[in-house]
Amino acid sequence: NKITIAIDGYSSTGKSTVAKQLAKALGYVYVDTGAMYRAVTLFSMQNNLISEHHFNKNELISLLDKVEVSFQFNEALGYAEVYLNGANVENTVRSLEVSQFVSQIAAVSEVRQQLVKQQQQLGKNKGVVMDGRDIGTVVFPDAELKVFMTASPDTRAERRYKELLNKGEDINYDDVLENVKSRDYLDSTREDSPLIKAHDAIEIDNSNLSLEQQFQTVFKLAKA
Ligand code: C5P
Repeated sequence: NKITIAIDGYSSTGKSTVAKQLAKALGYVYVDTGAMYRAVTLFSMQNNLISEHHFNKNELISLLDKVEVSFQFNEALGYAEVYLNGANVENTVRSLEVSQFVSQIAAVSEVRQQLVKQQQQLGKNKGVVMDGRDIGTVVFPDAELKVFMTASPDTRAERRYKELLNKGEDINYDDVLENVKSRDYLDSTREDSPLIKAHDAIEIDNSNLSLEQQFQTVFKLAKA
């Protein structure tokens, strides 16, 4: 019987890597909800609604019905990539620039309502692994398996830094660490659906676990 698997936790805890692997192993659909918030952020940047100096929240709210976020499975990659109004933005949404604005966009309750509804639709037939911040608490409070991933800020910043370097981004470590910490703060103090561990979630601190160990841990839980 197919179940719903919620994987929540702080940024750069490696949630998506494990969630993708798990979905593949189980033959489930993988949904990266962070990518959805990132796509709305990219939309806001492209339409000059947000910058370092301003955020035109009301304009964003009025344009929300023009924002279409979707996923398309990529055979070669083995997972679905995120699209914004028909354009593949899988790589663009991972930039540090998008990361610097995303928590502000994610704090807009109209944005959350729209995306949560879409996420519930995407997972309505079970057989889904969804990763994010509020999957076990808000999107699927009845998920059969809830995992909450944690790791120290330094471990996470180091991982993210390497990832961005590999992509050829011109960045320094301190900016990445600063971004990890500020997103932790904004994500956990948000009014609407703050990042909190669901009471029935299983916490995994993966600071000292290899990817294979993380995968095995959640795979066993999913099979139990
Ligand atoms: O998971 P990822 O780091 O890509 O998420 C980017 C941002 O999107 C988070 O820092 C958070 O602000 C927001 N987010 C959210 N709720 C989710 C997933 C992501 O608010 N379910």
